[in-house]
Amino acid sequence: MDNESAFIALTGDPLDRCDALRKQAGSIEAFRAAPDGLYLVLQGDEILLQPDGTLTLVHAGILPMLEIPDPGPVFLGVEQQSRRPWFVIAPNAGHAAGQEILQSLGEFSSLRQVLATLPAEDLAIAGRSFSLLQWHATHQFCAGCGGNTNVQGGGEKRLCPACAREHFPRVDPAVIMLVTHQDQCLLGRNANWPAGQYSTLAGFVEPGESIEEACRREIREEVAVDIGKVTYAFSQPWPFPHSMMIALNAEALSTDIVLEDELEDARWFSRAEIQQILTGDHPNVLPPYPRAASGVLLRNWAK
Ligand SMILES: [Zn+2]
Repeated sequence: MDNESAFIALTGDPLDRCDALRKQAGSIEAFRAAPDGLYLVLQGDEILLQPDGTLTLVHAGILPMLEIPDPGPVFLGVEQQSRRPWFVIAPNAGHAAGQEILQSLGEFSSLRQVLATLPAEDLAIAGRSFSLLQWHATHQFCAGCGGNTNVQGGGEKRLCPACAREHFPRVDPAVIMLVTHQDQCLLGRNANWPAGQYSTLAGFVEPGESIEEACRREIREEVAVDIGKVTYAFSQPWPFPHSMMIALNAEALSTDIVLEDELEDARWFSRAEIQQILTGDHPNVLPPYPRAASGVLLRNWAK
């Protein structure tokens, strides 16, 4: 894991995804037959964890006792040294016998709730698994002809047998930006967030615009501030459900804020206030999750 990944949650997946190998006939079946294969367990937005807060990984021997609907076990890759294969499964929660076994092996927790506590590499694997399974769940039917799609390549894509169209897991680019003006930066909050929570502004990139244009449009739409120079900072996969957060620094050309419908409040904070927020000492604003894009942008700027 490089130094940067250590500070940005959901990056640093240590598995070898075996992109070339997985395309060879019989390779996924061979990984499935491996006696030492490990299976991560997801159910809805929850993940099976051990009492110490790390991932519960079940062995292939457990699988016949569970009901595992489409897409079946999805191949994640192999450990770099041992070549031990990893999969993710989403067993049916309504299957009583299977559920009893799973509950004897760990406890289900919401992925969002363990973002701050799951070890970095476990979190990267869990986030990818979560994105993949949500994509499978919403791509059972072909967007071209409406036919049923089938899982291919251990879950790396789906194929429509009726029209031969291939469907690949999608990633939705979104921009998240720290807007600054001299020694101030702009944070906003949504009406349905917990009291005291503020964040850098963000929005999805739309067809036909560059990252810089998306940044300027979002800021104009949300707070009516004009943006000049935009610079890339870093990126973060965000698995709710499959966003790619592109973190930016954006220099404001104007400071008057006009709130649009999306935000309940937005205002300029001094660098001293941001330092207070980050240490949890601000009287009205909660500290951000430090390893998500907003927290990393703020920390870098406050230094
Ligand atoms: Zn089709």
